[in-house]
Amino acid sequence: MVRLRNGRCLTATSKRESPPKSSSKTKKKRKKIESPIPSIHSTIPKVKPESQTLMTKPSSRKKGNSPPQHWQEVHDLIQKMRMNRTADVDTMGCETFTETALPPHENRFRTLISAMLSSQTKDTVNAAAMDRLKKHGLTVENVLKTSQQDLEKLIYPVSFFKNKSKYIKAVCEQLKQDAEGKEFIDIPDTFQGLKSLPGVGPKMAHLVMTCAWERTEGICVDIHVHRISNRLGWVKTWNKASGNSRQQDPEKTREELEQWLPREHWATINPLLVGFGQTICTPLRPKCESCTVNQLCPSAFKAKI
Ligand code: SF4
Repeated sequence: MVRLRNGRCLTATSKRESPPKSSSKTKKKRKKIESPIPSIHSTIPKVKPESQTLMTKPSSRKKGNSPPQHWQEVHDLIQKMRMNRTADVDTMGCETFTETALPPHENRFRTLISAMLSSQTKDTVNAAAMDRLKKHGLTVENVLKTSQQDLEKLIYPVSFFKNKSKYIKAVCEQLKQDAEGKEFIDIPDTFQGLKSLPGVGPKMAHLVMTCAWERTEGICVDIHVHRISNRLGWVKTWNKASGNSRQQDPEKTREELEQWLPREHWATINPLLVGFGQTICTPLRPKCESCTVNQLCPSAFKAKI
């Protein structure tokens, strides 16, 4: 089993945001805004392809809602490849910013904010922004007291930091309103409640339900889950002709996966495949030669995107 993680929203904002205004000292420290697709940080050693002694027939999707052939075998082999937990998601997933000394509602708020920041942002960039927010004081009340401009500076260079800072402020306003007459401010405890928050879509809501409330109502499909599920032939929601997986609808991938993947795997499939996507089945130049499912994968040695 692997730990839960933050996801990346595939909803693209068409325009890059310019950095927040700040001192020249801060400007010198700025780095280029990261690509929406994380680069490779693989430290996984070469693994002897166990699949050479296993099935040689590539996994394929049967008609209807039946599971694809060999999916369990592929799943278990990926779990073995992920046993060392060397992916960024294993140490910087959205559930890793909680502290046992804090009240549960404050930890849940941290998880929500981390999930909001993580869309189209590297785990390392997200973790650094979360550290700055924590030092600043990451509570609903404190965020409301913080100016929009200061909030932008705190989360920069997270992707779309201007929009995200507006959404975070709006979420805090709503949480405060919803908590009127209650003992403390908390995030919604339902999928629909989370999805109703500004800037929170279904992927993020599923992630937060799992990470913050430990209740899984759907699979969180980010760009890694979307890409790898299609490469493995587990779903067919990827129009290869377009050459751009982000043009496809991850919600369709979620629907197809939920049709056959046993519910017990809904919470763990995201961190499993995200870490696999960060280390082996990378967006570009996947390491098929050291991947132990290469004889069961219909995309082995031919995956380009
Ligand atoms: S595309 Fe390559 S790295 Fe990805 S699952 Fe298939 S064989 Fe493994």
